[in-house]
Amino acid sequence: MAKSRFEYVRSYELPDPLMPGTFIVVRIDGRGFHKFSDAHSFSKPNDRRALDLMDMAAKTVMDEYKDVIMAFGESDEYSFLLKKNTKLYNRRRSKIASSIVSLFTSAYVFNWSRYLPNEPLRYSPSFDSRVVLYPSAKEVRDYFAWRQADTHINNLYNTVFWALVQSGQSTAEANKALQGTDSKDKNELLFSKFDINYNNLPAMYRKGSTCVRKPYPSTSTSSIAPEPSNIPSSTSSHNSPLVETPTRAADIEVTNSTTNTIAAKLEDMKAIKVPSSESELQSERPGSESRSGSVPIQEQKVKTPKKAKPFEGIDGELTIIHEDIIKDTFWDERPWLLE
Ligand SMILES: [Mg+2]
Repeated sequence: MAKSRFEYVRSYELPDPLMPGTFIVVRIDGRGFHKFSDAHSFSKPNDRRALDLMDMAAKTVMDEYKDVIMAFGESDEYSFLLKKNTKLYNRRRSKIASSIVSLFTSAYVFNWSRYLPNEPLRYSPSFDSRVVLYPSAKEVRDYFAWRQADTHINNLYNTVFWALVQSGQSTAEANKALQGTDSKDKNELLFSKFDINYNNLPAMYRKGSTCVRKPYPSTSTSSIAPEPSNIPSSTSSHNSPLVETPTRAADIEVTNSTTNTIAAKLEDMKAIKVPSSESELQSERPGSESRSGSVPIQEQKVKTPKKAKPFEGIDGELTIIHEDIIKDTFWDERPWLLE
C-alpha cells in the first residue's frame, strides 16, 4: 500500500518498553468513588455486592491475561502482578496499562446488574491505571504487604467511623473522635461502645481479596480407567452436576473454571485408547491365549512419565481468597509468583 504523505506522523509514536526481567504491577483505582458510592447507595463501611463486583472484574482480567498471575484488591482499587518474564504486548507500558484497566472497567459495568440488581447504574464509572516495576521479589512482597496493611488501616478506621455515625454522631464529630487514636484505641472503642470484635468481621473486609490460580485437579492418564463420575456421556451432560445451569453470579464463575476442567479431562480421556471391540481387545493383548474367564484387564502401554512441569500460575482455577499475604505462608505455598 502506498504511503500517504501523512504517514510521517507515525514517527512521533515513541516506544515505551518496560525493563526486561522486572516484575510488573498494574494498579487500577476508582476515580471519584466517594461520589460514586454515594450515588449508588453503597452500604458503609463495606458493601459486599460492590466488592464482589470488583473481584469479578479482576477475575475477568486474569481470565483474559494469563500472564497476570496474581491480583489483590480492596475498596475501589486492584493491583495486578504480571509474571517477571512476561512478553505481553512486548512489555509496552501503555498497551499493558490501558488494556488491563479497560477490560476491568468494562467487566465492572457489564456485570453491574448481576451484583447490584436493584441499583441502576447512574453514570459511567472510570478507573485510572499505573504501572510500577519492581526489581526483585522483596519489593513485590513489600508492595502487596503495603496494600494489605492499607486495607487493614482503612477498614479499621472506616468501621469505627461509620459505627459512630450510625450511632448518631455527625461525620465531623466522628472524625474528631478518631483523631490521634491508634489501632488499639479503635479496637477498644469498637468493643466497648459497639460490642464489635474487629477480628470477627469478615476476612474480606480485613484482608482484602487476593486472586490467584491453583492447579486444576490432576487429570493423570496413568489410571486404567477414568473414574465413573468422569465418564462423558451424550445423555448425561445435561444433568451433570459439573455443568449445571448457573443461577447465581458465584455459580457462573465456578462454571467457567469447571468447564475448563471438563475440557481438560475430555482431552485426557481422548488420549486413553479404549478398545472398541472384542477382537481389538484381543489383538491388543499379545501373548494372551485365552479369551475365557474373567473380564479382560486393559493393559496400557507403559509410557515413560513426562517430568511434570512445575506449575507456573498461568493456567489453573482462579480463586479468590481473603488471607494474610504479609507473612511468608501465602508466598511459600505459591513459589511461582515470585519466579
Ligand atoms: Mg479511588
